[in-house]
Amino acid sequence: MNDSTKLVPLRRKGTRHRPGTHPVPVTRRAFIETYGCQMNIGDSELMAGVLARRGYVTVNDPANADVIVINTCAIREHAETRVRGRIGQLQVHRRNRPDLVVAVTGCMAQRLGESVLETTAGVDLVAGPDSYRTLGDAVEEMRFGGTPRGQLLLALDEAEDYEGVEAVRREGVTAWVTVQRGCDHRCTFCIVPYVRGGEKNREPGAILAEVRQAVDDGYTEVSLLGQTVNSYRSGDWDFARLLEAVARTGGVRRVRFTSPHPNDVTDDLIRVMAEEPAVCPQLHLPLQSGSDRVLRRMLRRYTVEDFLDTVERVRSGVPGIALSTDIIVGFPGETEDDFEATLEVLRHVRFDDAFLYRYSPRDGTPATRLPPGDFVDDEISGRWLQEAISLHREIQRQINESEVGTVREVLVERRARSEGDMLGRTANGKVAVFGGPESWRNTYRDVRLTSTSGPTFRAEVQP
Ligand code: SF4
Repeated sequence: MNDSTKLVPLRRKGTRHRPGTHPVPVTRRAFIETYGCQMNIGDSELMAGVLARRGYVTVNDPANADVIVINTCAIREHAETRVRGRIGQLQVHRRNRPDLVVAVTGCMAQRLGESVLETTAGVDLVAGPDSYRTLGDAVEEMRFGGTPRGQLLLALDEAEDYEGVEAVRREGVTAWVTVQRGCDHRCTFCIVPYVRGGEKNREPGAILAEVRQAVDDGYTEVSLLGQTVNSYRSGDWDFARLLEAVARTGGVRRVRFTSPHPNDVTDDLIRVMAEEPAVCPQLHLPLQSGSDRVLRRMLRRYTVEDFLDTVERVRSGVPGIALSTDIIVGFPGETEDDFEATLEVLRHVRFDDAFLYRYSPRDGTPATRLPPGDFVDDEISGRWLQEAISLHREIQRQINESEVGTVREVLVERRARSEGDMLGRTANGKVAVFGGPESWRNTYRDVRLTSTSGPTFRAEVQP
């Protein structure tokens, strides 16, 4: 999961809402803060588009906003606790702005519904992932039409794919393009299918038009988003065909996609990844557990052997590809042997990156109904998490040390935390920090990787 991401004023051209041609005078301001996965970044950009239709520009300071949108994640309890704290902090802005509307959107909003209003003071509107189309109207009605505060927009709509809503992209160098919403899997730990509904795939024509628009707006890197993005299907288009078409769009220099399901890594997808120069040599393959017994209880629908076979096929098809994964430790019923099996897979595959979590029970998911005696003690799962993190960090350090000295092309993303430095990403998704001016943002540079901290690199720009 990512840290919160603040949307900043829009940057776009060639669209209906560019400055100076806005259908409504720009006197309204929205602040949108995003928690959770990249799907939520895409959704926040969609909401910025919906609000733009009603005259709202996105600002990067909540103190200046007429509406504050907190786009939430429900995947772990910790994410929800953070959001509650943040909503409390933001109430300070009501002092100068009594008509301020605070909206809670996203997966936590859908999961908790009315209880967000009951348990969290200062929330005016709760909207789930299928209700964003009406967000602007609801905010306006509340501010100017006399609609009482405390509105709920929670209907799940199997037909809502937000066709026709133009995203207002945040000021990053990647165009996030949602190709699929919802999920047809039912992994027993996961809340997503209950808060985002079943899988809905967009028409390829609309996706390709959005990609072309993103290129016209100055983006060269596109990231295709879907809950199980590689299960995409629309008519006779599958994900491999879609990826190939996006990669061949003029002006697209890099394409990434997230998050794939291991079962849908077809040979055709591997072929497209190998043959299309624009497709980045990077693949996220969520393993979750290295024990077949736990995978069965998670309803992941693959075995460790299947997973390792996929890794093998990907690595032989795309040599040098960087692999990342997600792991949950402490799933109900997991034993020391199961956990050891997970460590074994980590040692065997040697992922370039791994997102490691402790199991977090989510009300309404099947795993919460497993026998109470199966739930793993916090102390044990905490120890397992630390062990898995240490192992992964060591593997990652070894992999990245072996890349020190090589020259890589990076897309410069933003200013780094260290004075005078910029941060860029290699095609295989590795982060490098190097000296350079702000004006390099959204340009490509060749850098020599000079050292590694473990997860990231220090680099020097090549003449
Ligand atoms: S594939 Fe499983 S983990 Fe991923 S979103 Fe669907 S239900 Fe959740």
